[in-house]
Amino acid sequence: MRLQGSPVPAEDEAGSAEARNSAGIPFGRKKTGRVNPFDYRNNELHAESVPLSRIAERYGTPCYVYSRAALTESWRAFDDAFAGRDHLVCYAVKANSTLAVLNLLARLGSGFDIVSGGELARVLAAGGDPRKVVFSGVGKSAGEMRQALSADILCFNVESESELARLEAVAAQAGKTAAVSLRVNPDVDPRTHPYIATGLKQNKFGIAYEDALDLYRRARTMRHLTVAGVGCHIGSQLTELAPFVSALDRMLGLADRLQAEGITLTHVDIGGGLGIRYRDESPPAVADYARALAGRLGNRAVKLLLEPGRALAGHAGLLLTRVEYLKHGRERNFAVVDAAMNDLLRPALYDAWHDVLPVVAASGGRVYEIVGPVCESGDFLAHARTLALREGDLLAIMTAGAYGMSMSSNYNTRPRAAEVMVDGAQAHLVREREALSELMAREMPLP
Ligand SMILES: *Cc1c(COP(=O)(O)O)cnc(C)c1O
Repeated sequence: MRLQGSPVPAEDEAGSAEARNSAGIPFGRKKTGRVNPFDYRNNELHAESVPLSRIAERYGTPCYVYSRAALTESWRAFDDAFAGRDHLVCYAVKANSTLAVLNLLARLGSGFDIVSGGELARVLAAGGDPRKVVFSGVGKSAGEMRQALSADILCFNVESESELARLEAVAAQAGKTAAVSLRVNPDVDPRTHPYIATGLKQNKFGIAYEDALDLYRRARTMRHLTVAGVGCHIGSQLTELAPFVSALDRMLGLADRLQAEGITLTHVDIGGGLGIRYRDESPPAVADYARALAGRLGNRAVKLLLEPGRALAGHAGLLLTRVEYLKHGRERNFAVVDAAMNDLLRPALYDAWHDVLPVVAASGGRVYEIVGPVCESGDFLAHARTLALREGDLLAIMTAGAYGMSMSSNYNTRPRAAEVMVDGAQAHLVREREALSELMAREMPLP
């Protein structure tokens, strides 16, 4: 059966099941009035109007499923929140770098924040505008710099003195001028998971705040660089506004001191990091985030750059998986599913929590560890979830649109999952499941 071109009729709201996720939040309309892209209808979990069971039948599992409406809505909400001032939303490509996702955002007019030449190639292949690309990262190679200079990107977010010198040399060779912004380390505590905190003194990222002024003075004397802005990125999955406000204040203080020396910055880049709700977190609403930043910027004539990743893509995707085996033990019950840490690393890496929903709603059940087939005790997707399961059932690992597919690997020689984007009543395959032959294609035995 082919889903594409065979629309599934939308059912009305009255048909929705009285389902609740494991956090006890009823489905349907969220508090914000936005429609939930993944919702139960007639007891079955749908992506927009497409039943997830049909996606599993057609494309197999494990499979990432995205909602076009959710991605569009989250990008627009972010952009609209800053409508009152000069700004550019540069989606952080590493959150989800699938071409269809990038293309959708490019069509909406998004900019992009890249961290490698590979991500630049993806943005260009997806139709992104290089004049809206900023290039972050601590280890840009000379080759990546050349690639970005020839694409004419908007700005390099420079993270060290050595990088500044290398960029000057590469730009000179290429006969180009590079726009630069120094990524400063504002030394504010984002109060997030230590692996995703980046704005503290002990982190590898950015330039120490105390050193930034001198480096700007040097940058100004470099013939193939133009000083464009200042930026930071203090961490990911932040659930409070205060660290963003402190970081912005620090950067504006620096901008003022530079201005006094005749160095005018055209933009301030606050980075990404706005958190989302996976379980019971209460991250700031985008509107409040925008208001807090705008309040600090006042009427300064400076453009605001933003680099959200998770906040745009996280809620727009889920990972669809099938139960292979149930193991009911004396101590614990295991549900062995066909998705694993190679598909979704966040639980293994950060002990992250993702909601797990049955595709066919059912109440009661037992407490399960949801684990994958990979030979690692750290290979789990969720701990202690109460679910009524049978072998062969489908499960949805929710809020997996960001740092899911983009962090996946081939560990245990597992082909990477298929990806499907749903648009209303249609499901489009946007990435085929990898074939085993592709996994081995570049290897050769000894002569
Ligand atoms: C990862 C990253 C982002 C995006 O972070 P989110 O938490 O996904 O919003 C933005 N900027 C830089 C430099 C990053 O490294």
